[in-house]
Amino acid sequence: MLKLKLHWQILIALGLGILYGLFFTGAVEYVSWMGDLFLRALKMIIIPLIITSIVSGVSNIGSAQNLGKLGLKTISYYILTSLMAIFVGLILVNILQPGVGADLGFRKDVEGLNVVSDSLGNILLRMIPSNIFEALVSADMLAIIFFSIIVGFFLTRVDDYYKTKLIDLFNGGFELMMKITVFIIHFAPVGIFGIVAGVVAEQKTGLLDIAGRIGIYMAAVLLGLIFHGMITLPLLLKLIGRVNPWLHFKGMTTPLITAFSTSSSSATLPLTMESVEHNSGVSNKITSFVLPLGATVNMDGTALYECVAAMFIAQAYGIELSFLQQMIVVITALLASIGAAGIPMAGLVMISVVLSAVGLPLEGVGLILAVDRILDMCRTTVNVWSDSCGAAIIAKSEGEILKI
Ligand code: ASP
Repeated sequence: MLKLKLHWQILIALGLGILYGLFFTGAVEYVSWMGDLFLRALKMIIIPLIITSIVSGVSNIGSAQNLGKLGLKTISYYILTSLMAIFVGLILVNILQPGVGADLGFRKDVEGLNVVSDSLGNILLRMIPSNIFEALVSADMLAIIFFSIIVGFFLTRVDDYYKTKLIDLFNGGFELMMKITVFIIHFAPVGIFGIVAGVVAEQKTGLLDIAGRIGIYMAAVLLGLIFHGMITLPLLLKLIGRVNPWLHFKGMTTPLITAFSTSSSSATLPLTMESVEHNSGVSNKITSFVLPLGATVNMDGTALYECVAAMFIAQAYGIELSFLQQMIVVITALLASIGAAGIPMAGLVMISVVLSAVGLPLEGVGLILAVDRILDMCRTTVNVWSDSCGAAIIAKSEGEILKI
């Protein structure tokens, strides 16, 4: 029998999922369970994978100086690329003006917006968990990452007798989690088929009556994402990383399609780590530090989306934003993308941060709700793509020889 490579199987699964969702809308529950199972398996592995990979990665980095250098490079990459994405969005939304003359009657109510807007200041505070078990149970990624970095760092400072044993334990644990990840990846085609069929069936009617200004708003976000994903990031890969963007992209097909179908950078993380390590050849030392952090903090697609959405809402309400206010939108869009969790719709809720910073009506979020799912799928793909490009660029800057 013809044996197709995994990325072909996944592309076919994506296509079949779309067709199934469109033509067998009523029978979608017969296949959507496969997607749920796949997603549950991915989520099952995330926390143990993050802990073991960060602890073993950081303990391999060793000295505080090396860790500091890597940390600085990583954070600079995150901020730089997110800002580049936001400016692309800002330019597009100013040219296309999608909100001007938009119908405010389209608005829907959204709950829970106020809660987020005042908790942004707590992001840094929440990074330090007061109870690590609570952080684990509530999957508070930043807190888990912070704790794992601390454990990895101090592991190199304990007595040799314990040190070797503990480092072996975490290295072994990480190997084990990667083995489970590779096993789960075998189910990706079926899982993606189930997820996509479910999403298409759910969104079908909503997407068909999108017209007018909301369509232009979608186009602004999508064009921005395409520009950032296909031009800016590949250029950075080529010019700074000196690697072949196409080869890197080919190796990333599985995580990118998974990001697209699941709308979750966190759920995609196991697959991202596996592909960046095995297909692009980035060392575990770099992937285990850059990727888990990136899945929570580095969201270029979300940053671009926050900016375009906030500007769209301002235009729809006929509120003119000055240059200074637009710069505040840029900064808060960056913060909101950092604060957004790697889960579906996190970006939509975080828009309240941007809106309240420049005094725009919070109910404006209701305007963009109908098309959020599809945009979420696309921005999550760009988020994951940027994380993977960051890992390759940083690995090259650390003198690693890659396969791309
Ligand atoms: N779903 C996105 C992610 O996981 C976050 C967002 O909603 O923008 O990367």
